[in-house]
Amino acid sequence: MSSVNQLIHCINCHEIYLRTPFDQTPEYEWEPLNSLRESQGIEKDDFQDFLRNHRGHQLENLKIIEDSFVSEKPYSEPVKVSYFKATNGRENFVVKRFREKIDQPIKYQLIRGDYSLKCIDLQIQSETIRKQLEREMKPFLTKTQIDTFLQFYHHVGQKLDVNSLERVPEESPTPLEIYYKMDDFSLMYLLRNCRNFFKGKAYAEIEGFIHRHKDDGVLLLKATYRIEILERRVPKRTEVAAVSLMKKASEKV
Ligand SMILES: [Zn+2]
Repeated sequence: MSSVNQLIHCINCHEIYLRTPFDQTPEYEWEPLNSLRESQGIEKDDFQDFLRNHRGHQLENLKIIEDSFVSEKPYSEPVKVSYFKATNGRENFVVKRFREKIDQPIKYQLIRGDYSLKCIDLQIQSETIRKQLEREMKPFLTKTQIDTFLQFYHHVGQKLDVNSLERVPEESPTPLEIYYKMDDFSLMYLLRNCRNFFKGKAYAEIEGFIHRHKDDGVLLLKATYRIEILERRVPKRTEVAAVSLMKKASEKV
C-alpha cells in the first residue's frame, strides 16, 4: 500500500474513502487492464458521491502507516479480509479491507484502535525433517532412531520463546506464517540429548545433519500468528450521563 493513496475520513459519519493512484479502485486490481480503463470513470463518480454525501461534514486525511498491511489469507487470494494501520496524527485507526464475493467491490471499514500479531503456535516441521532424514540417512539410521530424533527436536522446540528467535526471510504462502531459526544454545542442548541416545556413526551422522540444515528450510521452526484487533472504546454521551445520574442517586442515600 503506497503513500500516494489518499484515505479520507468523515469524522461525523465515521466513514472512509480510499483514493488510489490514477483514480482507480483497488477492486479491479485482479482484472485485466482493459476492464480497468473502463472503471476509471466509475471511480471518479464514486468519489464525487462520497463528497456529495458528506457535504458540510468534517473531513480529514488519514496517513496510511507503511508496511502495516496484514492479511489472514495468501496474498494472491482475492476474497479475504486484510488490515492496515492509519493515523490522523492524534489517534490511530485500523482499516479493515474486505469483500464478500469475488464479483463485489472491496469495502473499507474504519476501526478505532490498533491490531497486534499474536503467536498462537510454534512447531518444528516434522514431515519435512522426516523426509530429509530418510533421503540422506536411510543406510545409517533406523526408523526408531528417526522417530527419536524428531521427538528430541520437538521437545526442544516446545521450550522456545518465539520472541527470542531470529526470523528468517523464508518464502511463505501466507503472511501469518513466519519461519525462525533455532538458536545455538538450543541446538547444543539438542545435540547433548542426541549424544546420550545415538552412538558412534549414528551420532556423527545426526550431528552432520544438524549442521547442514540448521540454516535452511528443513530445521526451521514455523510460527503461526493471529491478527488481534484492539478496539478503543469511545464512551458514549448517554453512558456518561447515566453514570452521573447514578452518582447523584447514591449521593442522596
Ligand atoms: Zn459524513
